[in-house]
Amino acid sequence: MIAIYKYRMAQKRAVARFIYDDLMLAAPFGRCPLCGQRSVSTLDHILPKTLYPALSVTPRNLIPACADCNHAKSDIAPTGADDEPIHPYYDDFDSDLWLHADVVHSSPPALVFSVAPPADWSETLRRRVAKHFTMFKLATLYASQAAQELNNINYSLSQLLAQGGKIAVQQHLSEQAESRRAAHTNSWQTATYTALARDDWFCEGGFAA
Ligand SMILES: [Zn+2]
Repeated sequence: MIAIYKYRMAQKRAVARFIYDDLMLAAPFGRCPLCGQRSVSTLDHILPKTLYPALSVTPRNLIPACADCNHAKSDIAPTGADDEPIHPYYDDFDSDLWLHADVVHSSPPALVFSVAPPADWSETLRRRVAKHFTMFKLATLYASQAAQELNNINYSLSQLLAQGGKIAVQQHLSEQAESRRAAHTNSWQTATYTALARDDWFCEGGFAA
């Protein structure tokens, strides 16, 4: 089965390559559903093909992924229900807010990301989302994306602060958070703008620190 996957499906000119390509195209905006950030470049076996060769060509076991997430997961297979990372298509982990960010009052300011699920989540769900967050190194990835975003919005926030003060900055950031939340509950962008809008130090000019 591994050979069928490799030679009939995954190779560029394989007869079943269209299945491989269709699965890759299933990712919205071409983004890896595991990290939600980087571009899709491969297919990941949820249950590794080395350990579950019979599932190596099962579409349900194949998800589009970026190279980094694919590499991070490698041949690691879950050992129990608590240990499974999120399946982007069969698990619904986006109806509740679980991704949280805090503003670090440093110069320049920074964001620190963490997992903070609602109190009524079961211990299994908590462990799974924490596992996903750690396995794909999302704290580091999101912190670097957020740092770049802060740099990009610095100028417009300075203009807003000069024109309308802290309230104008806070209102703008709240609107940005709302718009991003409407698109995706647990994106680093939603967590970032929510944290920025709530942080008085940041809105009073901390962004320019
Ligand atoms: Zn990824």
